[in-house]
Amino acid sequence: MRLKDRVALVTGGGRGIGRAIVLALAKEGADIVTCDINLENLKEVASEVEKLGRKILIQKVDVSKISEVDDVVKKALDKFTKIDILVNNAGITRDNLILKMSEEEWDQVLDINLKGAFNCLKAVARPMMKARSGRIVNIASVVGMMGNPGQANYAASKAGIIGLTKSAAKELASRGINVNAIAPGFIKTTMTESLSDEVKEKLINQIPLKRLGEVTDVANLVVFLASDDASYITGEVIKVDGGMLM
Ligand code: NAP
Repeated sequence: MRLKDRVALVTGGGRGIGRAIVLALAKEGADIVTCDINLENLKEVASEVEKLGRKILIQKVDVSKISEVDDVVKKALDKFTKIDILVNNAGITRDNLILKMSEEEWDQVLDINLKGAFNCLKAVARPMMKARSGRIVNIASVVGMMGNPGQANYAASKAGIIGLTKSAAKELASRGINVNAIAPGFIKTTMTESLSDEVKEKLINQIPLKRLGEVTDVANLVVFLASDDASYITGEVIKVDGGMLM
């Protein structure tokens, strides 16, 4: 087990990529703290983690609210005394063309995807600095590197995640904290299942490996970045996109 007795905080762990990350970390021996806007989904994830023999704390949190983030981090430290790993995964899309995009659509995406990641990073930085060790993995997107029509808000939030990752990596390296980002391409989740078959086929044609990604493709990389095997990697953005963006 590569993460025996480490404690990992994963945001948006109720479904999709976040749920896969929680289960992959627990399988490698980590105890889990996970928060999501949807408590019902978290309850199901909790029973699966317990079946793997690991401890879990779940809490309903909106990551864009700093007081809610601070509260879950406090409860995590009360229960487990430390947080070794943070995975900033919670994210949303509110797609629209720029001329039609409302202020609310812009603000919601930036607040949850970018400010939410900052809130969590800031909240865990102090205990990690005291421990002089920590791993932070931010889930960005290839869209943040290449742009996408209809996703100006989402692409800006994910490009922001990359800037946040590199700044935090430089700021926290001397305290033994590694900060990296993962940029997934198109992964099979509810975020992508609403795409029509025609759109999916077009997408697959642009992917050299000729398939959409699985949630485990992303989760496996999170485990690696959180493990001792990745101790000399920081400030990196690693794509998991089947070769789509080269
Ligand atoms: P998903 O299936 O929609 O899951 C996102 C999770 O985050 C959901 O459980 C959601 O709760 C939760 N969430 C939403 N707003 C939140 C908030 N304010 N506070 C806390 N939790 C919140 O999405 P996914 O596809 O797994 O995506 C996970 C991450 O990967 C996101 O950052 C996304 O941008 C990124 N990503 C995904 C893809 C892809 O192809 N799927 C590609 C590139 C990057 P609800 O269940 O209530 O919505």
